[in-house]
Amino acid sequence: MTRLAEAQRLLRKRVPGPQSVALHERKLASVADSVGTALPVYVERAESGLLIDVDGNELIDFGSGIAVTNVGAADPRVVEAVQRQVQNFTHTCFMVTPYEGYVAVCERLAELTPGTHEKRSALFNSGAEAVENAIKIARRATRRQAVVAFDHAYHGRTNLTMALTSKNMPYKHGFGPFAGEIFRAPMAYPYRWNGDRQRVAEEAYAAFEAQVHAQVGEDNVAAVIVEPIQGEGGFIVPPRGWLPRLQRWCQDHGALLIADEIQTGFCRTGDWFACDHEQVVPDLIATAKGIAGGLPLGAVTGRAEVMNSVHAGGLGGTYGGNPVACAAALAAMETMEELELDSRAREIGDVFVQRLGRLQDNVDAIGEVRGRGAMIAIELIAGVGDTTPAPELAAAINKRCHEHGLVTLTAGTYGNVLRFLPPLTIPEALLQQGLDILEDAVLTAVYGGLQ
Ligand SMILES: *Cc1c(COP(=O)(O)O)cnc(C)c1O
Repeated sequence: MTRLAEAQRLLRKRVPGPQSVALHERKLASVADSVGTALPVYVERAESGLLIDVDGNELIDFGSGIAVTNVGAADPRVVEAVQRQVQNFTHTCFMVTPYEGYVAVCERLAELTPGTHEKRSALFNSGAEAVENAIKIARRATRRQAVVAFDHAYHGRTNLTMALTSKNMPYKHGFGPFAGEIFRAPMAYPYRWNGDRQRVAEEAYAAFEAQVHAQVGEDNVAAVIVEPIQGEGGFIVPPRGWLPRLQRWCQDHGALLIADEIQTGFCRTGDWFACDHEQVVPDLIATAKGIAGGLPLGAVTGRAEVMNSVHAGGLGGTYGGNPVACAAALAAMETMEELELDSRAREIGDVFVQRLGRLQDNVDAIGEVRGRGAMIAIELIAGVGDTTPAPELAAAINKRCHEHGLVTLTAGTYGNVLRFLPPLTIPEALLQQGLDILEDAVLTAVYGGLQ
């Protein structure tokens, strides 16, 4: 498609239109209700920053399928690589008869992830599966069992990753019993810690240290798992210095630092990985989402001696590192490199922060504009001097964005955060138009359409 220059949102029908409504009726009659849809608009195709639905509506994408399509949902390199691979073969199982794509992805991961040490990787199908395996590896390597995760953390929906995830509703409610030996520590959440960032870094770290000492015992800790910027938790950016302190604690106590970069990885935050921002080098890093331009792939990359401490045959799975997903990943990484999407993410972040900062000056209900690179959020509150979370306001803004053809997502433990994750290839005009819709939605929701 060569219409990117004049790309713009186009609404031919109301959102959702009649074709989407008809498909949604079929969905309700065939798909489990528990599998929700944030915006029941049925997509037919995509371009960078645009989702085109079955009614011909063209919606601006500020979600990237939850931080997945960093290179866009139809990147020409990814499309071509997938088509070529599908024609050659779809599957052999790497554990049975291997193929080059898997090895090439592991080589690229060794180059791109933080640290210059000797690394090894193993590939899986999803983020949750990557996290599960990172925990398996950490326990095997350290011969210890306890794992420390944080308040507001999200690590997935399988049994072990539900245990690591903090929020009950909707992720855990009624799904127990959960995996054992998981402990939770306070998160350095500056906006709700009520202190300056430097103080928060120190106090939150001190609380972590004291709590692990009292409740777990340093020598029992196999790993500390952390999202360098929390995703589902509400794009919580810990203050500078907190992450390096965790790394040092792990080194001092023989525990492994696992960075869950599933949402933050692959140029999203303005660096290849969010850990790069403070030169933190985790022992293990879990990746997925942005890795393969939309195809399902997850990975664990780590120190060679840690990864290789697992016995032969101890890791794997039928589909892990599927050849089509690997071809897509190699193509997506090439696009990120050639288009320098890390620096583009920083530019996108600057545009968001500038415009949302101005909006915040006029809207007391925006408690904070935060994030890094193209991972930006606003936290909505009751108003001046009252930081009570305002989830109904977040929902109202979200709904109005959807009706006006902008795909946005909510987040946060209190459901009061709107998060923005545009594809890093979004054309400037669409970015600005999306922000126009968002601003209008905020003003309308707050002032009832009087502005
Ligand atoms: C999405 C996500 C996961 C889980 O990934 P799935 O592919 O949905 O299993 C884990 N950790 C973080 C930080 C995520 O954002």
